[in-house]
Amino acid sequence: MKTKKVEKIFAPQSPHFVGDGFRVHNFIPSAYGLSMQRMNPFIMMDYNSKFYFPPSPEPKGVGVHPHRGFETVTIAYKGKVAHHDSAGNSGVIGEGDVQWMTAASGILHKEYHEEEFSKAGGDFQMVQLWVNLPAKDKMSSPKYQGIANDKINKVALPNNSGLIEVIAGQYKDVKGAAVTFSPVHLQNAKLNEGAQVEFSFPAEYNTAVLVIEGGVKVNDAEIAATNHFVLFQNEGEEFVIEALENSIVLVLSGAPINEPIAAHGPFVMNTRAELVQAMEDFNMGKFGYLED
Ligand code: MN
Repeated sequence: MKTKKVEKIFAPQSPHFVGDGFRVHNFIPSAYGLSMQRMNPFIMMDYNSKFYFPPSPEPKGVGVHPHRGFETVTIAYKGKVAHHDSAGNSGVIGEGDVQWMTAASGILHKEYHEEEFSKAGGDFQMVQLWVNLPAKDKMSSPKYQGIANDKINKVALPNNSGLIEVIAGQYKDVKGAAVTFSPVHLQNAKLNEGAQVEFSFPAEYNTAVLVIEGGVKVNDAEIAATNHFVLFQNEGEEFVIEALENSIVLVLSGAPINEPIAAHGPFVMNTRAELVQAMEDFNMGKFGYLED
């Protein structure tokens, strides 16, 4: 096995608001050159780094909007989000939980701070990833996987050095709870200071690490601080993360979907014609109905 080297480490850019409830740094696609195709199947990553929201009687968030052609994955580190969609699914994503929503052929949803959290105020920290679907699955039926933290398989690391939460794919022999359409590994490594943990993914998989908390050293060489994004080369398989303090890192690695991408706002398809169709279908109400 060969070492998978760091290609580049990206600092978070100045944040912007999505609706009034998500203060995010956009890492994919971005001015960094991390295009949808470069990171495919991870075609979007918005990261709400830890941010204090003061108490608000009206929950902040994003109102009803559509998606087609991919999945939205929300990973909560701090705070709580309430979700409702036009397929009738709803749920609350709290600290440590993950929501894996397959928009596929089309869905409307809304995402707001959960009511009690909103009233009390508090620290809020989340990642939203968009995971692309292969062309053959883009028009499949929407579905919803609400994955509470106690349903996420965990691998204890030796010498009490921490644990790996396997959200999707697998770490060593332990498989993740999320069902995916293409090979996707998504893991939270919760590491105690001094922990050293090895990861191994196929060379061609698009692979990155986001430092959620703390700071890490990668391959005994580069240092990545809190809220920094580490992109790996598409060569070699193995890399080592060493926690310089108590740290949490999100690890993502996925088989590239080698198909064209046509994207417009909340629609990600393969061709312009499919995008036009998506907008027509949305305008004709074919994505269903959801009250604002
Ligand atoms: Mn959305």
